[in-house]
This record gives sequence, structure tokens and C-alpha cells, in this order.
Amino acid sequence: MYVYFGTNEYNFEKLTNPPTYEPTKCSRCGKVIVLSEEGYSMKGSEYWCEKCTGAVFPRF
Ligand SMILES: [Zn+2]
Repeated sequence: MYVYFGTNEYNFEKLTNPPTYEPTKCSRCGKVIVLSEEGYSMKGSEYWCEKCTGAVFPRF
């Protein structure tokens, strides 16, 4: 988690003209979810990554 945030801040500062899209982040752990490549679940307006979904709902 700490590595992720450090990397994210670094990348953000380096981008002078960032893309307009916002990456989807897991509402539980903050991990960026690549919707086209990774498992995830939606809970209302929140997205949960595959790992967090599996941790809370082992049968998923
Ligand atoms: Zn997560």
C-alpha cells in the first residue's frame, strides 16, 4: 500500500498534461483496478478489487 501511494505521487508530479480519465480505484484498499484486465465488483458507486472482494466474500 505504501509503495503504491509513493509511486502514484511520483507519477502525478511527472505528468504535466495528464489524461482526463480517472483510474478506477478499489474503495477498500485504494488499488487501481484495470477493469478490462482484473476481477472486481461494484457495491453501489464503489469498486472493489478482486483481492478485497475475495477477502470479504470468500465464495466469490
Ligand atoms: Zn482492494
